[in-house]
Amino acid sequence: MSLDSNPYHAYLRSPEWKERRIAALRYWGYACALNARHRGQLEVHHRCYDRLGAETPTDVIVLCARCHRLFHDLLPAVSALPFIGTIPTNEQLN
Ligand SMILES: [Zn+2]
Ligand SMILES: [Zn+2]
Repeated sequence: MSLDSNPYHAYLRSPEWKERRIAALRYWGYACALNARHRGQLEVHHRCYDRLGAETPTDVIVLCARCHRLFHDLLPAVSALPFIGTIPTNEQLN
């Protein structure tokens, strides 16, 4: 049993988030947004937290675990990019 009292982490364990996560996976086609051929655990990454608790599928993107880690490493730079409507290709990230 976790003693994690962070409300965001608690939300990520909630049935509401599980439903939204599945809706997002469906919306994004169960594939890593950076490269659909990536294999590995798919994770759902928040692009914005404006509707935290009531996310739309476009508030998040699906990334494989590896790209997700990369994203968070790059996040200060990546979050400054105008992401709306465009997902960067691997080439753009290189
Ligand atoms: Zn993330
Ligand atoms: Zn990936």
